[in-house]
Amino acid sequence: MTTALSAPPALRAQAGRLDAADPLAPLRARFLLPPDVVYLDGNSLGPLPAAVPPALDDAVRRQWGTGLIGSWNGAGWWEAPLRVGDAVGRLIGAAPGQTVAGDSTSVQLFTALDAAAALRPDRPLLVTDPGHFPTDRYLADAVARRRGLDVRRVAPADLPAFLAAEGHRTAVVSYSPVDFRTGELYDLAALTRAAHDAGALALWDLCHAAGALPLDVDGTGVDLAVGCGYKFLSGGPGAPAYLYVAQRHHAALETPLPGWTGHAAPFDLAAGYRPAPGIARARIGTPPILSLLALEAALTAFDGVDLRQVRAKSLSLTGFFLRCADELLTPLGFAPVTPADPARRGSQVTLRHPDAHALTRALAHHGVLADMRAPDLLRFGVNALYTTHTDLLEAALRLHTLTATGAYDRTPPAPGVVT
Ligand SMILES: *Cc1c(COP(=O)(O)O)cnc(C)c1O
Repeated sequence: MTTALSAPPALRAQAGRLDAADPLAPLRARFLLPPDVVYLDGNSLGPLPAAVPPALDDAVRRQWGTGLIGSWNGAGWWEAPLRVGDAVGRLIGAAPGQTVAGDSTSVQLFTALDAAAALRPDRPLLVTDPGHFPTDRYLADAVARRRGLDVRRVAPADLPAFLAAEGHRTAVVSYSPVDFRTGELYDLAALTRAAHDAGALALWDLCHAAGALPLDVDGTGVDLAVGCGYKFLSGGPGAPAYLYVAQRHHAALETPLPGWTGHAAPFDLAAGYRPAPGIARARIGTPPILSLLALEAALTAFDGVDLRQVRAKSLSLTGFFLRCADELLTPLGFAPVTPADPARRGSQVTLRHPDAHALTRALAHHGVLADMRAPDLLRFGVNALYTTHTDLLEAALRLHTLTATGAYDRTPPAPGVVT
């Protein structure tokens, strides 16, 4: 602790003041966080909500163990994908009947991309972010190959100009409102408008936005959206993802995976597929009930929570961490890559440092759980439901000490290690 000796008292006082005045502080009790851990990786795997273990115990012992097959109707299993979909819908601004939960984000993305392309059959371009999450890029390529489309990779900042020129040939634009590496926030409403002005559809991947900031998919005219259940929604490892399709598209919606549970009359066992009305046609096969019920219980952590307050606190947290970084870490070679402008900041702060991997492991060794994205980005995710300003100060101080003393192992990680 050399350069930082004068800084921590002011930062500590500020953290204490902000935490004491935090109206959302009681929500932390809705999560079972281990003591002595600073958890800043909820944008990769949300922590365990207190409501989940009793809900899973009931699902396994009573609903499955005692109710057996009768629970498909008796315990509401059959309707769970639509019921949980509606619960996610409340967090993304979707009126009921437009969101279905189940399967993984990747499967839902494939469904959404293919269905969107089918809704604009005469347009040859599929436009996506060159910096999009890998699965989003791979699936855009796969859907384009299957449908004979061309993929255009256009950075979000360049999308309006691209659409002004090529929008009339564009079937769908596929973007995330938050860059998973840098935490930069894009203007979902403006980009959706630009797509619509060109007659194209807007598909949004909400993995890093749902539960972290207010969204209004209905009000902003989003056509389709997907997102995972295990990041800010804390539905557990591999939690079901969700697919939103705006109601105006339901009648024409054709999905590439017309499984039997999306049939209009699944128990008629008909020879041919006839899609169910509404979003139910986006169901595929037998849903993962235990995981759906875990996600449903997890979502109760948001009961009574105003997402505008969540957003305000998230910005306070990330703003405070940027200040900590400025005072404690940039002098040691860290460079913040997350925009300082709150209007362009999601719910994480990313710092660039050549030893990102080794430092992330060293932090974890000291109870500060963050993550990194290759080759040199350290990511610190905040969740206003449980993160405190003091957590962030502890993380910054620990990182400062490790870096200033050089007391960490720079050996490269074994291949295939989850980061
Ligand atoms: C986390 C994330 C995914 C994950 O996809 P899975 O199928 O759940 O593994 C996809 N896209 C984005 C933008 C993500 O942030």
